[in-house]
Amino acid sequence: MPELPEVETIRRGIISYLINQPVEKFIIADKKFRAHLLPNIEKIMQGEKLIDITRRGKYLLFNFPVGTLIIHLGMSGSLCLVDKNHILQKHQHAALLFPKNTLVFTDPRKFGNFFWIEKKPLEHERLKDLGKEPFDNDFNGEYLFQKARNKKIPVKQFLMENKIVTGIGNIYASEILFAAKIKPNQSVQKISLKSWNKIAECAREILKAAIVHGGSTIHTYVNSRGESGGYQKMLRVYGKEGKKCPICKTIIKSFRLGQRSTFYCPRCQR
Ligand SMILES: [Zn+2]
Repeated sequence: MPELPEVETIRRGIISYLINQPVEKFIIADKKFRAHLLPNIEKIMQGEKLIDITRRGKYLLFNFPVGTLIIHLGMSGSLCLVDKNHILQKHQHAALLFPKNTLVFTDPRKFGNFFWIEKKPLEHERLKDLGKEPFDNDFNGEYLFQKARNKKIPVKQFLMENKIVTGIGNIYASEILFAAKIKPNQSVQKISLKSWNKIAECAREILKAAIVHGGSTIHTYVNSRGESGGYQKMLRVYGKEGKKCPICKTIIKSFRLGQRSTFYCPRCQR
């Protein structure tokens, strides 16, 4: 599933091509993606100039004067820029046609979603309860420590809760906890403020590095030019079961936590 770095990579890859361009046509080829849009959405968006593309958690926000198109990529969604004469292929369920480029939404597993909101997009029901962004100034150890006070869940699941911090999924939660030297199944109750500070710091470092390298391609993720990300080569524990820990050479182990594969070094992470 695309996490914060992958969504941000897509945003950065498309913004300069599309900003200030008017929508010539909005095509929704699969009616599943109409569910949260207005019936006359094609007409509403026609001729509207794209003001900005922003991101909140794993959601991309296409801001127009009349409203905001919010896109969630789901498990396997991606957005690609193609040339104007492109004909939609299998799994390509929607497209935004601009004068010079076409933005195509591809989603083989169809867990992605489109939403439309006329007024303040951050108040949309999918966005209003999201937690802090890892790059917010007040995302720090103290914030995590306070949020963890009344919870009794493993730290990895805590980091993946979008109401606490947005954009961290299974891959980066494993990597952050490895960097912070904390066991993924450690109860949040047992984590000190000092360790929370370390976790917040590692989260920012890892997500920043992943954005710089264009995200991680684990299953189907590709960037806006159809290219794989580069960060998967830098992953240290995720998907590395049976391999040696890059720090201490102990064999990396994996187990299921909340139905998700979880990877850790039994020696470095305690
Ligand atoms: Zn190790």
